[in-house]
Amino acid sequence: MKTKKVKLKLKQGVIKKLKIIGVILGVLLVAYMFYCKQLSQFTELGYSREASKKILFSEHKEYILTVKENKTLNAAFESEDFKDKYLKNYAKISFVDHKSLIKNINKLLEKGYSNSDVSIILTHGSEEDVIEFTKRERVRYLEEFLDFPYAKIKYYDRYIAYTDETGEDEKTTVIHVNLNMDKKEYEDAVTEDVFSYDMLVNKFHYLEEEFIPNDLIEISEEYRGGTEVVLANRTAVNAVIQMIESASIDGLELVVNSSYRSHADQIEIAEFYRKWYGDNYVENYIAKPGYSEHQTGLAFDMGSKKSKTFADSKEYEWIIKNAHKYGFIARFTKRGQSITGYRSEPAHFRYVGKEIAEYIYKHNITFEEYYVMFLDK
Ligand SMILES: [Zn+2]
Repeated sequence: MKTKKVKLKLKQGVIKKLKIIGVILGVLLVAYMFYCKQLSQFTELGYSREASKKILFSEHKEYILTVKENKTLNAAFESEDFKDKYLKNYAKISFVDHKSLIKNINKLLEKGYSNSDVSIILTHGSEEDVIEFTKRERVRYLEEFLDFPYAKIKYYDRYIAYTDETGEDEKTTVIHVNLNMDKKEYEDAVTEDVFSYDMLVNKFHYLEEEFIPNDLIEISEEYRGGTEVVLANRTAVNAVIQMIESASIDGLELVVNSSYRSHADQIEIAEFYRKWYGDNYVENYIAKPGYSEHQTGLAFDMGSKKSKTFADSKEYEWIIKNAHKYGFIARFTKRGQSITGYRSEPAHFRYVGKEIAEYIYKHNITFEEYYVMFLDK
């Protein structure tokens, strides 16, 4: 009997304790649910859990609820560099995925840049470029150059120097500098070592002697102007044949006079022309070895079977209107001379694929301009 009583007492004690624990747990649960609900106001807006927690315990809750989703604010609340005084600036500045985003924003705001200036700076360079830019004195003509989406903050000084020296407008300046045209031709050239249909080869984009295009095949005799073997990239050859066949339906006789030329071929050609036409001609019309598009296997010098002067032929009239449908562009036009660095060369066509060719044709621009706008990363 005695033991039973003790057991009962013990049991009652345990139950009491359990009850208290239960109540505490219940309260905690309710508190936790309340906390989660509060947090979800922000996570549902797109803020991370980490940022949401900080927002919840800050004095900016109401403000965030009015701003709603904002990636830069999210990054700010996640960052150790968050500054209260810049809260409203963060909300208006473009987000970029840089680790030091908030630190850089703070530095730029401290220098006196406006929110839109900061956005411009952030969206025109890599993280490293931005960090470098935060170290310099505040610049004056930011928007003039960086209004163009393809302008780069790392070239800022070069833009200023180029426009001072040449008097070119901002857009031309940005395009020229991005193409390295403020540097010396054939020097400081970028080496291109990967074959692609949109590769750029010019006086500032170089091919090594060893560079050989993908898939070189011979163009069969019926499509050639001469008897010599002509090689080119397979896809480009198929396109040129299609183009020639289409022209022939209209009674025209287009031919390929030249296409792929190796480094060594290019040296030979330059020497040949130098003998007959002199240095000046070679400088204006013949690319130096490594700088010739013919080494890509994507360039075609076209001709007419009927007419000696291609530019005056019916074939020329046709190809100028139709080449883009087959993925070709007239590469060296009169209009493009100041950018390509070559005099007009009516016979020279370049395969770039239909999409790019159509764009270039429609907008009447050079391949260089297209490259700056869409290909140069
Ligand atoms: Zn050519």
